[in-house]
Amino acid sequence: MLDLFTILNKGGLVLWKHAYTSLTGSPVEGLIKNILIEERSGTDIYIKDTYALKWTFANELDLVFVVAYQKILQLSYIDELLETIKRLFIETYKDTVVTDQGIHGDYSDFDAVFSKVLVSLEQKHSSNRARAPRKFENTKKFETTLKGSQAPVSQSTASNTKVDNDEITKNIKALKLQGSPRGKGGRKQPPSRTTSSTASPSTEKKKSQKQMRVWDGQIAKGEMEALDYSGGGGDDTVDEALIKAQHLDAAKLGTKNNQGIYEVQDVDVPEDDEDEDYDFGDDDEDDNDGSNKGGIFSFFKSMTGQREMTEETLDPVLATMKDSMIDKNVGKEIADRLCESVKSSLLGKKLGSFERVSAVVRTSMESALKRILTPKTSLDILRDIEQAKSEKRPYVITFIGVNGVGKSTNLSKVCFWLLQNNVKVLIAACDTFRSGAVEQLRVHARNLRALQTSGGGVVELFERGYGKDSAGIAKDAIAYAGANNFDVVLIDTAGRMQDNEPLMRALSKLVSVNNPDKIIFVGEALVGNEAVDQLTKFNNALKDFSGLQNPRHIDGMILTKFDTIDDKVGAALTMTYITGQPIYFVGCGQTYRKFDIITFGTAS
Ligand code: GDP
Repeated sequence: MLDLFTILNKGGLVLWKHAYTSLTGSPVEGLIKNILIEERSGTDIYIKDTYALKWTFANELDLVFVVAYQKILQLSYIDELLETIKRLFIETYKDTVVTDQGIHGDYSDFDAVFSKVLVSLEQKHSSNRARAPRKFENTKKFETTLKGSQAPVSQSTASNTKVDNDEITKNIKALKLQGSPRGKGGRKQPPSRTTSSTASPSTEKKKSQKQMRVWDGQIAKGEMEALDYSGGGGDDTVDEALIKAQHLDAAKLGTKNNQGIYEVQDVDVPEDDEDEDYDFGDDDEDDNDGSNKGGIFSFFKSMTGQREMTEETLDPVLATMKDSMIDKNVGKEIADRLCESVKSSLLGKKLGSFERVSAVVRTSMESALKRILTPKTSLDILRDIEQAKSEKRPYVITFIGVNGVGKSTNLSKVCFWLLQNNVKVLIAACDTFRSGAVEQLRVHARNLRALQTSGGGVVELFERGYGKDSAGIAKDAIAYAGANNFDVVLIDTAGRMQDNEPLMRALSKLVSVNNPDKIIFVGEALVGNEAVDQLTKFNNALKDFSGLQNPRHIDGMILTKFDTIDDKVGAALTMTYITGQPIYFVGCGQTYRKFDIITFGTAS
């Protein structure tokens, strides 16, 4: 039923895996890249092609437990399997992972443990399924309970699933005690550790009786044996090949060779603002980490380094952090998702001696932000232009976005930058909708020509007036550029609201017909929550209206009007988080001066 169960460390290295099929399309890599690195682990399922992947973190050991199965299957035991395997693996190999051999440890015994747990859960859930059609309301028990009071009815129904989870916990506890010299386990006759046993039919039968019992540290034989891995294992061999997650290095892409290349200025972030942005109230630390209840005891606890991060300790710190992000104009939904993701990667992690929750959360959030903002693809447009040149075709960039955000102004700024790098540019006036749009571009082209007094840069405007099909004009412009040795075509499109379907269809058509090298979304840095809606709907329109099997999506962003936002820079985070794409330029001002376009190359 499963395709794969694997245990990775957070760097993507495989400690242990059990594969039932060879997976196509690297869904686990997809999970790491799109969910774990991009801080989307607040969601609980990842769908890639035909696979569904679920995961759970063991933050105290920096491990991720991942299960992959066919998405059409409804496997009710997946969550339980993840949690059970996590507990068993931690209990067995905790010291190995932390101290001894780390990822190079020998986990081959775990194959047998895993198989036993899986079989046991499959049996349990399939028998639950078999019983399912018989509703509780139809049973005698329901009748008799009704005659008494209503309360026990709901209580007993609701507690069923909880009992299952409790059972597993207690079974594991009992297993642990079994190996301990002091362990009593509450059993009259604990099973021998040296005997590898499987559940007998008689113990299977006893299972239902056992579930109705009130637990008090006791464990039933059937459950014990199903989970007892002490004597089993060793026969199955585990594939110990440690797979390097190559894509992790991709996050380091994006440095430019500036030899002879016109470069624009980097964003200048005032140093002293940084701490202000992350004021998480360290003074209230004791309240936040919930460890101030016992005075001397909490101090002692902190000395022993045994404090664990829990929802109670993390929530107040993350709430402050979320407010701080929203205050800096990060979309609320994104701030929520990000905090949820950071929380899930910290829950259960042990705090070191004197370590503060707020400091750990802050470090974790900082590295999450760096990961999100670090471009995953090359930003070197000049190199891509050279590549297109060698293929004897013009490089095509399409600018899209809503009305008035500064599309044509920033298209002209990009053109100015290209001219400084001796690129021959054709501007295609494809906003055939808004009156004045073509004239505005004509003025820009004239100004740019006037500024271009030396070097090999050339700029020309390709225009066909208004009311015509913009996809056709763009096609003609590209053909014209090819025939006249232009290096680059910059396509200006009509601004449109994301809910205007006819205009969104026209945009999608322009993209499908001309297949530009880059689709750049131009958005205002002022935008807050609205950015989520804009980007999602533009991307959806490109996909839904394209009629293509492999539709295009936004390849990157230009953030405009950065000069007007002060320190409210959150839109940069919102936009990169939503699209997973980099910010190519940040526009600061209304002129073409060279410092107006700012590369966001190594965003941090
Ligand atoms: P379009 O409708 O999207 O093509 O937007 P325009 O390029 O016509 O720009 C709309 C207005 O925004 C114009 O007044 C621009 O001068 C102004 N604008 C564009 N970029 C910036 C910027 O980076 N900073 C500031 N302050 N204004 C800008």
